[in-house]
Amino acid sequence: MKISSLFEQGRPLYSFEIFPPKRTAPVETIYHTLEQLDGLHPDFISVTFGAAGIITDKHNPLEIATMIKERCHTEAMMHLTCINSSRADIDEISADAQQRGIENILVLRGDRMPDIAPRTDFRYAEDLAAYLSRRGGFCLSGACYPEGHLDSPDLQSDIGYLRRKVDAGCSHLVSQLFFDNRFFYDFLDRARGAGIAVPISAGIMPVTSKSQIEKMITLCGASLPNKFAKMMQRYEHYPQALMDAGVAYAIDQIIDLVAQGVDGVHLYTMNNPGLARRITDSVSSLFKAGK
Ligand code: FAD
Repeated sequence: MKISSLFEQGRPLYSFEIFPPKRTAPVETIYHTLEQLDGLHPDFISVTFGAAGIITDKHNPLEIATMIKERCHTEAMMHLTCINSSRADIDEISADAQQRGIENILVLRGDRMPDIAPRTDFRYAEDLAAYLSRRGGFCLSGACYPEGHLDSPDLQSDIGYLRRKVDAGCSHLVSQLFFDNRFFYDFLDRARGAGIAVPISAGIMPVTSKSQIEKMITLCGASLPNKFAKMMQRYEHYPQALMDAGVAYAIDQIIDLVAQGVDGVHLYTMNNPGLARRITDSVSSLFKAGK
């Protein structure tokens, strides 16, 4: 089913993100993760696409998206980056996706890799959205950045480019993680003001360790509110306490977002079903209530 149809139910959607197993891990680890996540009944599960755009059979997001649909009977969304892909690569992957019945694709530019010269067929996610829209058959989502993308000169141009991505065919947006809901609400105001009317899911990442958050902040530039920074400082040497506090913080963010009428919450599970279960047990009823 297309994610755009799921949004027609008149309630916020609750979705998960997973990544393919590490190259050194047996592929069975992902079956185990999926079995456990599936029991939490998300509306859909998305699977990320390798950072350099390089995939092997074992780590193939197409295989994993198929598994989500066929084994878990849950809707799947496959991420697809284009910065290191030619038109022929995209044609091959999209034909395979169509054959497998994968209907939802999150179109992405991907990050520039210092040691790989980018291909020139697609410069931005917008170009991939336009290309796949012309091909037809997919429901396209795009990424958005409540605090602005790191490459953007300012928030206003960031929203302008986002509008172009939506106009090119994205019917849903998923946000980068953020730790202060005010950034998300301000972003929503800017997006709606710019005429972006599609549903926008809020990306929530629970903290599992100080190093994980530090790595994410370096990658995406999310700000740390004082309350969050204090929490990390206080519990950095107590892993269980830090995780407990992180789960409570994520639940708090989600309760506020749903109460404010968010279209959806996308939980970055980091392939940790235990963590996803703790959060889901506390918030699942919120997603059953209408908007
Ligand atoms: P774009 O929308 O193309 O934007 C990139 C930059 O270019 C932005 O600064 C934008 O403002 C600017 N821009 C856009 N259009 C134009 C234009 N026409 N002219 C000038 N500037 C323009 N990475 C992966 O490798 N694999 C994944 O699976 C993955 N999943 C992600 C999921 C989510 C929800 C998010 C938020 C990010 C994900 N990323 C993933 C990271 C993402 O690929 C990077 O953030 C990347 O740097 C930008 O990708 P994008 O699709 O948002 O790019």
